[in-house]
Amino acid sequence: MKIIMLGAPGAGKGTQAKKIAEKYGIPHISTGDIFRANIKNGTKLGNKVKTYMDQGLLVPDELVCDLVVDRIQQADCAKGYILDGFPRTIPQAESLDAALKAAGESVDYAIDVNVPDENIVKRMGGRRACVGCGATYHLVYAPTKKEGICDACGGELILRDDDKPETVQKRLDVYHEQTQPLIDYYDKKGILKTVDGSMSMEDVFAAILGILEA
Ligand code: AMP
Repeated sequence: MKIIMLGAPGAGKGTQAKKIAEKYGIPHISTGDIFRANIKNGTKLGNKVKTYMDQGLLVPDELVCDLVVDRIQQADCAKGYILDGFPRTIPQAESLDAALKAAGESVDYAIDVNVPDENIVKRMGGRRACVGCGATYHLVYAPTKKEGICDACGGELILRDDDKPETVQKRLDVYHEQTQPLIDYYDKKGILKTVDGSMSMEDVFAAILGILEA
């Protein structure tokens, strides 16, 4: 099962992607997580992408496409995978389609987690990320057991630079301009499924399972 998660930053697609990956035993591939790990490890790629990410801008397509195409060819992707945060532009979607087509494959579902902008701005201000392992939480919707401390690794929680209000607005603008056209792109292919992301995390997950198990 090959699934793409669409939706604005902060719509909750990462949380849902993790739950789907767990349920179906397929890898969750988040380009944002891959970039953040590279920044943390001080790699060449990390240095290249940091300035874009800190400003809420998209990293250039050429730094993303090969990375994802290589990743989905690894052995653990044989039964499928869930892509979270990729594609984010039409050229990225086309390059994914071309790579899949060459292998006689295609994407099965593009799931759009739909949330109005005003809810997103509210949500992102409450988001916290672990400096140690990168796990994300929310002060209201997904709190840690102990305030300010990561449940998974005990690391300190922070508000990521790209979750600060001024950057969130920029990321939303970028989303509408560059990523939203993908909704039409996948709709035309007949694989677009939309869920209401304003519901509780459990209800959104149930709606997604309803689609995948139909
Ligand atoms: P995310 O965690 O998915 O919201 O991604 C965080 C940041 O990483 C984005 O704001 C972009 O700067 C960068 N990024 C992640 N995925 C992509 C992508 N597919 N194309 C371009 N930039 C990306």
